[in-house]
Amino acid sequence: MEERIVIVGAGQAGGELAAGLRKQGYKGRVLLLGDEAHPPYQRPPLSKGFLQGKVSLSDLYLKPLATYERFEIELKTGTRVEAIHRSSRELSLGDGSRLGYDKLVLATGGRARPLNLPGLEGARPENLFALRSISDVEAMRGRFVPGGKLVIIGGGYVGLEVAAVAVQLGLEVTLLEAAPRLLSRVTGPEVSSFIERLHRERGVRFRLACEVRGLELDEARRQVRGVSLAYHGVPELLEADLVLVGIGLIPNTELASAAGLAVDNGIVVDEYACTADPDILAIGDCANQPSAYTGGRIRLESVPNAIEHSRVAVATLMGKREPYAAIPWFWSDQYGLKLQMVGLSTGYEQCVTRGSAEGKEFSAFYLKDRRVIAADVIGRPAEFMAAKRLVSSRVEVDATRLGDAAVPLNSLAA
Ligand code: FAD
Repeated sequence: MEERIVIVGAGQAGGELAAGLRKQGYKGRVLLLGDEAHPPYQRPPLSKGFLQGKVSLSDLYLKPLATYERFEIELKTGTRVEAIHRSSRELSLGDGSRLGYDKLVLATGGRARPLNLPGLEGARPENLFALRSISDVEAMRGRFVPGGKLVIIGGGYVGLEVAAVAVQLGLEVTLLEAAPRLLSRVTGPEVSSFIERLHRERGVRFRLACEVRGLELDEARRQVRGVSLAYHGVPELLEADLVLVGIGLIPNTELASAAGLAVDNGIVVDEYACTADPDILAIGDCANQPSAYTGGRIRLESVPNAIEHSRVAVATLMGKREPYAAIPWFWSDQYGLKLQMVGLSTGYEQCVTRGSAEGKEFSAFYLKDRRVIAADVIGRPAEFMAAKRLVSSRVEVDATRLGDAAVPLNSLAA
């Protein structure tokens, strides 16, 4: 019988993997199962151009539908996988049927972390949103009207990108963050202040180091009326027409753990994307993998990681062994300004900046042991490739020359 690879999760990683198998000449059957109503699509525009109405639905799709036909990829949308039966190599599907596999790839991504606040139990307010999918944007977009009061809980990339879109659409935006600065887990104070200033200039209000205490609901518990918080110890109630919660992601690992696979902040895989079961792989946001860059294990949530991880899985499934070796990188767009980050700055000893924060064109390099371990490049896309090379080459650099915009970055990476 023809060999069958089944991919669970028709997202960025699953979509790339299915197409990648065909591009590499895989001849068996490829089944791509996803519980959403859409073919694989890009999520980054959800909090940017798609929310703003500048990107259409079909532009979100990774590939036109005809490509799946041409590649003989059996795409089954609206199909949820409920369980994995490893002994018989079968899956239980949402409609009660079973489906056999020879190789299984879990590309189940993650879901938005819910807000657990007292008083919210059992309530499903219509104007309380998270942002992970097309249907989330479709549910909230009609409420993005000029003058509307939007409260965003969480000062990560998704919250900040939505804030940027919302103020440009004329909403009054207040962003609440528990940490004393924005993006505190992923960047240094220089870049946090820059981002805060960028948003303040456009009218976004912030409550940093604040504690969200609860949501005020209407009597029917169908609408949020306000958000109560403590700011510098002082209680405050913010009126809200809509509330967006952007406090991170929970990886979808339940299928794997119920099937007895190891899970530890993601489905545990090796550098070839393999779980301990030789017939099951896991890729993308749901997977926790060894990182040649950090020397430890890591779970990344980014498009470049989903693409690279699917490439590694294609190689594994085609019988070639190509370990994951890419350096983490990410981008964000706010007010038309491109922010690009490479590496992880955790544990840096010195931050060297280059360019002009006032001119909204600058880079921040994070050094440890005289080596650049990470960089944030803002409004200087031409510098990003060189920044990537600096991080990956691990060469020692002279901090003074690094900070001198007249010295070509490439000459430091050489
Ligand atoms: P996903 O794309 O989440 O796909 C997983 C799919 O599996 C989903 O469709 C899910 O519904 C489905 N699924 C789960 N369980 C099952 C099941 N049991 N049965 C069937 N189907 C199932 N990254 C960047 O690099 N740059 C950005 O600017 C950026 N912006 C972003 C903005 C937003 C609003 C969001 C939400 C993400 C953003 N990301 C960005 C992150 C990036 O989109 C993700 O890292 C990427 O989508 C991960 O791909 P994935 O395939 O692992 O997961």
